Parts: sequence; structure tokens; C-alpha cells
Amino acid sequence: MAEVNKEQLLNCALCPNMCRCECPVVQVLGREATAPAGKARLALMLEQGHLAWNEEILEAVSNCLGCRGCATLCPFPELNLGDELLNTRLKSKEAGIGLPACNPYLGTLKKFGSPYGQKTGTWPAANKGAEVLLFAGCTSTANNPASIGAACHLLDKAGVTFQLIDEDCCGYPAAVWGDEDLARQLAAENKRKMTESGASLLVTNCPECWLTFTEHYPEWNQEIPIQIIDGPSYYLQLIREGRLELKENELTAVSYHDPCIWARVAKKVTEPREILRAIPGLNIEEPYSSGEATRCCGGGSMFQLSFPQTAAAVARRRLAEFPKDTAIVTACPFCREGLLQEGRPVLELVELLAISVK
Ligand code: SF4
Ligand code: SF4
Repeated sequence: MAEVNKEQLLNCALCPNMCRCECPVVQVLGREATAPAGKARLALMLEQGHLAWNEEILEAVSNCLGCRGCATLCPFPELNLGDELLNTRLKSKEAGIGLPACNPYLGTLKKFGSPYGQKTGTWPAANKGAEVLLFAGCTSTANNPASIGAACHLLDKAGVTFQLIDEDCCGYPAAVWGDEDLARQLAAENKRKMTESGASLLVTNCPECWLTFTEHYPEWNQEIPIQIIDGPSYYLQLIREGRLELKENELTAVSYHDPCIWARVAKKVTEPREILRAIPGLNIEEPYSSGEATRCCGGGSMFQLSFPQTAAAVARRRLAEFPKDTAIVTACPFCREGLLQEGRPVLELVELLAISVK
């Protein structure tokens, strides 16, 4: 288990908390205990033994999307509050405390390898041994398998021989729900299957999977011996190499929603926009906040399952930032899910590319 950094938590606990205006959770809940410094104070008091775990405190320190919105205004560059709160929550299991809303999902995850239940989209190990491994991700598999079909279509069009494996959930949901043992088990199983696949390049369209593979698997001693690339960078590479030729589609205007992890951690801000500009006849209009200053859609840290009402309220707040007459394009299965709620057209980048490829 990664240790909680008490010095960083103390900095945050004593801070004037100006970043609260960028924390989507406190903005929709209005409770100071869910503001960044409020959560840091609770985490520090738990760590110092001044507070004992109970469900109310666990709920407060779980009210973090991991979106890093607070980091955009934070004077402490070393502080990753989302990770400190995650490391704090991992100790709740030892204390025998769990969030009632999350326990059924943890049970399902243990049983089926996906928090959504039986994996209906268990993909065939097609092209076994192929160099490129497409990691489907449990959220896309459960909620939008069409996006996986779109990715397969693109790779076929580009002449890429690829494989899918009988993957398990990356493990991130187990970690955010406080069960690091389960997260490590899922990571070990995925690492074994990925290594046995013989692939040398892993492509993922899910920023939470990417973050888990690149940051958390090494922390859990499960580093994957395969190069990992984010979907937007990979598809852009195929376009630049002339392997994907694009044409007009029925859409005329789109706005791109930057997923927090792609924009603020992976710094993938220009790549998706270059892809959009490569599609003929498409006007691109920016939402009020974009790029690294994006605002979370409410889908981070499994909020759509753990805190669905908060997730929906955060998504509505974000939706108000988009120009009215555009289709919204994003590059994350959680963002798509959150932004869909007002009935606007929302597509994943791979889906847009699949309808734009010649
Ligand atoms: S996250 Fe940074 S800016 Fe926000 S309260 Fe903590 S220390 Fe202050
Ligand atoms: S990471 Fe996001 S949700 Fe968590 S405290 Fe910072 S701004 Fe709030």
C-alpha cells in the first residue's frame, strides 16, 4: 500500500482552499467537508488518529473524482490530492468500513472480473500473437460496445493486425473503493494475459485504464512489459502515416470535451484536436473551459456507480459550458456516459473516426 504523505496533506489542510471553485464536487454539494482542504483535513486527522473511521467520514474522503481540477490552482506542485485521498481510503478496509453503495459492485467485480456483471463482450483472442493489443475496458464493454467495434473497424481500415484478450477490469474501481488486494489480483491477472499475448503495443481508449496501467501497476509491482499508448495518439499516428483517410460525415459542428486524465496527466490536448481538424467539413467550437483547464464530467473515480446523483449534477454543470448546436465528442467512456444525460448527441472520438474513415 502506498503511504499517505502527511506533509502534503498538512499543506493542503492549512491552505486557504481557493481551489474550491475548481472542485466540481464541492461546487455541486456545497458541503465544506467535500472541498479539497476539507477532505485533506479529514484524511490528516484519520492518519494522526484524531478521528476514527465511520461511514460518514469514508463518504467525505471518497468524494473526490480524481479530476485534478484543484491542481490547476494549487501552489504545491508535489501534491496529488486525489492520490492522497485514495491512499487514505485504502486503510478503510483494515478498519472494516466500506461504502454501502460500493459493496455490491465490489462483490460483482470479484465474481465476474467487471463491476458491471458478467462480461457479455468477452472478445475472441483473434489474431493471437499480433503486435497490437486493443484493451477494450470494462466500461466500454458494458455501456458502449459499439465504440469497441468502431476501434476494430479503424484498425482494420488502417491495415493493423491486432488482438483482443479475455481481459479483466484494470483494477482501478477496486482501488477507488478501498480494496487494494482485489486491485492487485486483477492487475496480476491482466499482466499475465498481456504478457502471454506476445503483443508489443497496447492501445487503450480509456484514460482510467491508461492511468492505472502506467501509474498504479508499477506501484502494485505489476508493470506491464509492453509499450502503452493512448487511443488519441495512436489514431493520430495512423492518420499522419496516411493509413487512415478521412471524409465528410453528417456532422457539421462539434465541441471536444477534454477528459481530465488525458488533458491534465497525459497532456493529450492537441492530438484529439488535430484529429478533428483532419476530418473535412467539420467546424470545431470550444466549450467555455477546455484543454488542461477542462472541467470534469462527473465520471472520474467510478462516481457514476458510487455517487450517481453527484455524478449527474457535475455532468449538468459541465454540459452548460458547451455551445448549443454542436455534437459533443470526447475520448473517454465515462465522459460519454455522463454527458449523454441531456439527450445531446455525444460520440467517442473512435466512433466519430469510424464514420469518417474512407
Ligand atoms: S489542493 Fe492545493 S490549492 Fe487546493 S486546498 Fe489543497 S493545497 Fe490548497
Ligand atoms: S481531484 Fe477533483 S474532485 Fe478531487 S478534490 Fe481535486 S478538484 Fe475536487
